[in-house]
Amino acid sequence: MPRYDFRCRSCGATFELNRPMARANDPATCPEGHPDTVKLLSTVAVTGAAASAPAPAGGGGGCCGGGCCG
Ligand SMILES: [Zn+2]
Repeated sequence: MPRYDFRCRSCGATFELNRPMARANDPATCPEGHPDTVKLLSTVAVTGAAASAPAPAGGGGGCCGGGCCG
């Protein structure tokens, strides 16, 4: 179940709620009871675009590969 971050505009408190995605946009109430809250962007880590640096070219060939050095 995804977790959503909210911030209360009345007292400035931030809090988290676990709720189904179907209710992601439902209004949330501050733990202090204030109804004026805003949903923050989720900070859930998104996988799939892992950094994959290209391997450096090279290896093989070169001078000593052909017996020219010895
Ligand atoms: Zn509040």
